[in-house]
Amino acid sequence: MPSLILHGGAWDIPADRIEPHRSGCARALVLGWEMLRGGASSVDTVEKVVACLEDDGSFDAGRGSHLNAFGKIELDASIMSGASLRCGAVAAVGRIRNPISLCRAIMDESEHILLVGEGAELFAREHGIALSTMEELVHQRELDAWKESLSDVEYSTKDAFRRQNAASDTVGAVAIDSRGDICVGTSTGGTFRKHPGRVGDSPLIGCGSYAENAIGGVSTTGWGEAMIKVVLAKTIIDVMEMNGGNAQAAAEKGIDILRRKADGFGGVIVLNHAGEIGLAFNTPHMARAYMTDKMDTPFIAV
Ligand code: ASP
Repeated sequence: MPSLILHGGAWDIPADRIEPHRSGCARALVLGWEMLRGGASSVDTVEKVVACLEDDGSFDAGRGSHLNAFGKIELDASIMSGASLRCGAVAAVGRIRNPISLCRAIMDESEHILLVGEGAELFAREHGIALSTMEELVHQRELDAWKESLSDVEYSTKDAFRRQNAASDTVGAVAIDSRGDICVGTSTGGTFRKHPGRVGDSPLIGCGSYAENAIGGVSTTGWGEAMIKVVLAKTIIDVMEMNGGNAQAAAEKGIDILRRKADGFGGVIVLNHAGEIGLAFNTPHMARAYMTDKMDTPFIAV
């Protein structure tokens, strides 16, 4: 029964960053698979896998995130348990090293679902989650990229996605444990040079993440404005509910809907209630990895 699928973002991953993406995904997959095989819950596994990707520095999540138009970090994330539909999410937080763990605390300990900015950071302090400084989270690579881009005063995320030259490396994971419980987590620094205060799809339940034990789980990556329009994660869950649980067909249908209805680009990872894998993307690359109890060796690709 246990299955684990994760992504390290969809888009144009430059040649010199392919290997770090591959090894970052591999490390997180091994960590998560050992946990699941040892009987860990899907919620514990997804939190640790996403935190591992946030800490890696290769991805647009946690340390390594893209900077916004003002050169600041603003992180979005969500987690959802398919057993109970419980969920937790944060948006526009600047000083949280592992936003996925703050989402978990909100899911477990708050009557609310989505906390933003200062209020989310206050909740972190109240629940024993230490705040980092923004400097600790800013990666030199991202600072350099931000400075270099400043001469492009017309920069637009949509155009960058269309020219297929945006490296946008949101992370996410979907796991099903030996009890059949599904959990999904997604975490991102959002799009490069986004307007301060911009919130993407990743922290929005139904857009970046969705899980329901009887059907499956989905985590998305790509151009958030388009994915919000078609409520991508929940749309894929609905397709899967109607197509008899075919995870791969639902993933492909989701990407087709994204492109057709919202002119969008991105990628999705899917598990159905039986732990079967689906994944699809319409970008040049997508860092992705999975392992199920029917496989001898993990699948890892960028
Ligand atoms: N979906 C994220 C956002 O729009 C970005 C990404 O997945 O790369 O914030």
